[in-house]
Amino acid sequence: VRGYAGRKVAVLGLGRSGLATARALAAGDAIPICWDDGEAARTVAHDEGFTVADLSRDAAWDGIDALITSPGIPHLYPAPHPAIAKAWQNGAVVDNDIGLFFRSFATQEWDEFERAPRVICITGSNGKSTTTALVAHVLRAAGMSVQMGGNIGRGVLDMDPATDGGVVVLELSSYQTELARALSPDIAVFTNLTPDHLDRHGGMGGYFAAKRRLFAEGGPERSIIGVDEVEGRYLAQQLREETATGDPVIRVSSGQKLSGDGWSVFARKGHLAEWRKGRQVASFDLREMAGLPGAHNHQNACAAYAVGRSLGLGPRQIETGMRSYPGLRHRCQVIATINGVRYVNDSKATNADAAEQALRAFKNIHWIAGGVPKAGGISSLIPLMDHVTSSYLIGEAAPAFAQDLTDFPHEISGTMQQAVASAHSAAQPGDTVLLAPACASFDQFPSFEARGEMFEALVAALAG
Ligand code: ADP
Repeated sequence: VRGYAGRKVAVLGLGRSGLATARALAAGDAIPICWDDGEAARTVAHDEGFTVADLSRDAAWDGIDALITSPGIPHLYPAPHPAIAKAWQNGAVVDNDIGLFFRSFATQEWDEFERAPRVICITGSNGKSTTTALVAHVLRAAGMSVQMGGNIGRGVLDMDPATDGGVVVLELSSYQTELARALSPDIAVFTNLTPDHLDRHGGMGGYFAAKRRLFAEGGPERSIIGVDEVEGRYLAQQLREETATGDPVIRVSSGQKLSGDGWSVFARKGHLAEWRKGRQVASFDLREMAGLPGAHNHQNACAAYAVGRSLGLGPRQIETGMRSYPGLRHRCQVIATINGVRYVNDSKATNADAAEQALRAFKNIHWIAGGVPKAGGISSLIPLMDHVTSSYLIGEAAPAFAQDLTDFPHEISGTMQQAVASAHSAAQPGDTVLLAPACASFDQFPSFEARGEMFEALVAALAG
């Protein structure tokens, strides 16, 4: 990173992004002063040769005027981390790796490039990773040079955006947009908004405000806004008022026809449609996209399409790219079809809202669910049981889920092995075996990825 040569910069949190930050600062001749509350993380930084100092003590702050913090560390609610409180007391600027990236990016000389790289940022409650990966895939398929990172793939400071005419696609969480002191994407996407992480943002208003920062005045030249919730409609309206000329906003919907003046992309009855100035410009069938099952993915497809159009791609080019999109691992991913039975890994569905999208996307489902239950359980999913042939329950939640499903066919399988074996023997050609746990994984697995991998391995063994 540029702009900090010879200066000491505090780095709080030494996970993947924190270490990448320390390395990038050092590469720009700054002196990172590192801290993490966990001893193991401190040891890693120390072994890499970085200075480690307890940033919750005043003594550490001598000569430091900036702190770069990690997204997992609270800076406001429920209370600021002691090192962040100390940074404020000592008059230091608190920023994150995203802010650092944009500052450094802005100060770089792009004159030697025919076309400076373009930066696309994607935020929202759900579908960020899918939209980000889909955008990267479609642009690559069209021959563009693409780097993808942020919350997905590489940390922003692990990237080298200096490619002629290249594109950087970043997935940004609300924690990241909230704190970044510089945010200047060329194109910004807001997928949707549902209550999530409200404790860290002091409620829904704070959560929306955090995401809205990506669209601040003088921000992106093109904003792509999901308007299926009131927040998105409000944002789209405001952005259109702020910039009176050109087409600053593309509105996106899954389910609603958006045909007014302006520019819009929406999905209805399995088809994507693009409208401009009251006329349809393009349309194609989304149901043929194997990597994008379900209405929720159609929303993601519309947002990705709008990004492609904003970068000058043609509708057919985007359609072709989408057709070869393989899906993102563990997110409603069709991993195999065996004897006419489709196997779908949605291990990332760690809550009922996400599992609901998967249950809506298929019919004749053999549903594998359970793990560490979340507040509210699966009562909200009962109306979708007409999509489910039978349920196979695993982990801690199994007895409680069995209670919820008293009126529907189910078994307490206990383990993933048993659930896959039972579902496999019950499923008929045309059915779908779906892992969408509606639970965290930590009772039986180290992570949702490990849970999904075990499902994949068991399914691969069936195909044997
Ligand atoms: P994020 O990165 O925002 O968490 P992902 O793309 O990883 O989003 O998807 C997370 C979960 O939410 C998955 O279970 C997925 O099936 C579901 N999902 C994906 N896109 C959407 C959407 N547009 N609306 C609602 N749910 C979605």
